[in-house]
Amino acid sequence: MRQESGAPILIHSRKWTRLRGVPTTTDFAGRLRAAELRVTRPRVAVLSAVHEHPHADTDSIIGVVRSYLGDVSHQAVYDVLRALTTAGLLRRIQPSGSVARYESRIGDNHHHVVCRSCGTIADVDCAINTTPCLTPSDDHGFVIDEAEVVYWGTCPTCQSNADTGEKDVRV
Ligand SMILES: [Zn+2]
Ligand SMILES: [Zn+2]
Repeated sequence: MRQESGAPILIHSRKWTRLRGVPTTTDFAGRLRAAELRVTRPRVAVLSAVHEHPHADTDSIIGVVRSYLGDVSHQAVYDVLRALTTAGLLRRIQPSGSVARYESRIGDNHHHVVCRSCGTIADVDCAINTTPCLTPSDDHGFVIDEAEVVYWGTCPTCQSNADTGEKDVRV
């Protein structure tokens, strides 16, 4: 026998999720306008998805965008990711051995620490705060606009798994 009292809550929460649509739509619409891009639901959804899941890969982003908007094609999400990256609203990173990942934290040239075992990525601020890595010891006459620093190591989860002899299983 189904429990009657559970049903209204479930319906309510589904409805709420659907009406809620894309989180913080206004803010992202403003960013698009500031970059002189037309505000579309897929663009807002991609910005929002990347904001909520920093360093997510394309497949994960597609999954999140579909949870907001329903059916959206892979190609549409690829196109939006490319447009937003070109416009400087997203930053694309691709550590060696990883697929491309995206983040909405832009403009500060922060660095990343990557786990060799499970691929987890975390942000690392510049050590001296004001993008000091853009001042190389020898610029060879180049005008430098970006520096990529990747720290490689083992994340806390993989360290403790190694301690207990468990294998790190990526899902
Ligand atoms: Zn790890
Ligand atoms: Zn980052």
